[in-house]
Amino acid sequence: MNTHLMQNYAPLPVTFKKGEGAWLWDDSGRKYLDALSGVAVCGLGHAHPAVAEAICSQARTLVHTSNWYHIEHQESLAQKLTALAGMERAFFCNSGAEANEAAIKLARLYGHQKDINNPTIIAMKGSFHGRTMATLSATGSRKVQAGFEPLVKGFVRAPYDDLEALEAIAQNNHDVVAVLVEPIIGEGGIQIPSDDYLPGIRKLCDDNGWLMILDEIQTGIGRTGEWFAFQHSAISPDIITLAKGLGNGVPIGACLAKGTAAELFQPGHHGSTYGGNPLVCAAALAVLATIEKEQLNARVRRLGNTMLADFKTALADVQGIVDIRGCGLMLAIELDRPCGELLQQALEAGLLLNVTAGNIVRLLPPLIISDEEAGKITTITSDLIKNFLSTTPA
Ligand SMILES: *Cc1c(COP(=O)(O)O)cnc(C)c1O
Repeated sequence: MNTHLMQNYAPLPVTFKKGEGAWLWDDSGRKYLDALSGVAVCGLGHAHPAVAEAICSQARTLVHTSNWYHIEHQESLAQKLTALAGMERAFFCNSGAEANEAAIKLARLYGHQKDINNPTIIAMKGSFHGRTMATLSATGSRKVQAGFEPLVKGFVRAPYDDLEALEAIAQNNHDVVAVLVEPIIGEGGIQIPSDDYLPGIRKLCDDNGWLMILDEIQTGIGRTGEWFAFQHSAISPDIITLAKGLGNGVPIGACLAKGTAAELFQPGHHGSTYGGNPLVCAAALAVLATIEKEQLNARVRRLGNTMLADFKTALADVQGIVDIRGCGLMLAIELDRPCGELLQQALEAGLLLNVTAGNIVRLLPPLIISDEEAGKITTITSDLIKNFLSTTPA
């Protein structure tokens, strides 16, 4: 199977034919509870009527023109997103990596405007920012970079959740123009920083004239129970990158900015043929309207707390559990041993979940799951983990 596809993925042996809400059906009619949402993409679940209607009706009207012309839905989406995020302007593209590319280009323009010839961005160990050359160079994982050297220059590395390390860089490196950071590390295993981390970065950026860039590609659009994860703290960044949950499966990315950063791009600096076309913007507008109308942020906070508490109860005193953590519907159970086999075992149990960083079970269920579905996810996952730990040597 798949012999004409490049072998860069290693898919599980299942093919889905349709979806509805938090459920997917495979080609033999078997049904699965989706606790991954296509990796934090389908926050409103599958085939959400409001999103489906927006896509269909827009497809019947106008799919694509060009950024050579005004696009009404793009204006509306920019207005809505910047209002929600406390930003001023938006640039639209087609993926998370592209959103980060835009942010990196903004940081470099910013540096050159300050006569810094080697503008340098601080990026974190364990981070993930994408697979394009600049974003994989920013990514703090050798696995993502190996084989693709030479890397793009202009990045320096700091450990995550370590303000002292950033202060030391500020003392020694006068080429730094920006800090690029995930408010909660996603691919790197749902690492939640201390409460003073983002405010500390904000202060360092203010003191040193750096831009604070938040990669909210995984954490944004309601995933953590706020529109954006930084809104759990009292700070505001200069630049925010978005993708995943923004389109509920339609490819769209965005780079939002305020202040100086919002004014840097001038005609000719950057662009994207498809970026922000009428179709994807109509879908994203429907996503935002639905989250608002169904008051999903409050629901995510409540369900996230319940699921976290239920996991802590179900897995209390189980040998092999290192940590159970989460924020909203971004949940992780860290084990003391590699647990990749859990993917297949979960599939057999009719549940879709993810294992990241080798030993961390990651759950990113749709924001629209019912209390009953949330309960099912915690029960099935806890049972699988208990069984796995009791049958697999450490
Ligand atoms: C998924 C992800 C990206 C990359 O997004 P793509 O759409 O795959 O390019 C970047 N940053 C974070 C934090 C992500 O989770």
